[in-house]
Amino acid sequence: MRDLSRRPELLSINTATVRQQWSLPQIIEGCARQEIRAVAPWRDQVAQCGLKTAAELVKKHDLRISGYCRGGMFTAPDKAGRQAALDDNRRAVDEALALNAECLVLVVGGLAAGSKDIADARQQVRDGIASLLDYSRAQGMKLAIEPLHPMYAADRACVNTLKQANDLCQALGAGIGVAVDVYHVWWDPELAVEIARAGKNNWLYAFHVCDWLVPTRDLLLDRGMMGDGIIDIAGIRRQVEAAGYNGTVEVEIFSAQDWWQRDPDEVLRVCRERYASVC
Ligand code: ZN
Repeated sequence: MRDLSRRPELLSINTATVRQQWSLPQIIEGCARQEIRAVAPWRDQVAQCGLKTAAELVKKHDLRISGYCRGGMFTAPDKAGRQAALDDNRRAVDEALALNAECLVLVVGGLAAGSKDIADARQQVRDGIASLLDYSRAQGMKLAIEPLHPMYAADRACVNTLKQANDLCQALGAGIGVAVDVYHVWWDPELAVEIARAGKNNWLYAFHVCDWLVPTRDLLLDRGMMGDGIIDIAGIRRQVEAAGYNGTVEVEIFSAQDWWQRDPDEVLRVCRERYASVC
C-alpha cells in the first residue's frame, strides 16, 4: 500500500471550516500561506466577494477546487418551487464552471414543506437530478451526490446511504457520481461494498473528512477535527483509494463551539497536521 499521508498536495479545505472567522478571499490567502493547494468554496461566500473576484483569486494562487458547495435542495411542495430549485441549480453549475471546480456537490433536499411522504421526496430528487443533468452534462460539469446521515433526512437530504446514491448514479447515467463524507457514512454496514461499487464505475468524485464526536452536542454544528472522534478515517480512505479514487481529501468541519471560535491560522495548521497523522 502506498503511503498517501505523504501527499500534502491532496489536502483540501472546505471553506465552511473557517467560515465564521474569515471571508473567502481571506481563506484563500490563508490556505496559500499554509501551502494548502485545494479548497471547496460555498456559494454564499462566493456571492459575497463576487464570482469574478473569486475566480481570479483561485487562478492567481493556482488552487484546485475539489468541489463547489452546493447544489441540490430539489424538493418543494409545488411545481413552481421545484422549477425555482432547478433554475438555481443551473446557476450553481455555471458558477462551478467559472471557478473550474471538479464537481458540483449535491445535498439533495429532505421532505418538502408540509409533507410526510419520504418516497415522494426521493422521487422528486431523482426527477430534479435528471433535469439538472441535461444541463450539467452539456456544460461538462460533474455532479456529486452526497449522501447525508439519516438524522438529516427530514430537512436536508433524503439520500442517506451510499447505496442509495449509487443506485441513483446507475439509473441516471453519465455525469453523475458520489461524494463520500466519512461523517455521514462511517456507520453503514454496506459501506465497503458500496465504495468498491462506486470505484468500479468511476463515479467516486469527492472524499470529505472530519470526525464524529461522542457525545455529539449539536446535530449540525458539532463536527470534530480528524482524530478527535471515533471514525476510522484512514481505514475509509484506504477503501476509497483501493477503489481507484485518486483525488483530494477535503476537510469539512462545522463546529460552532470549538473550531469556529479559534484562530483560523491555527485551525488550518491543525488540519494539516491531522491530515498527515490521522488521515
Ligand atoms: Zn461533506
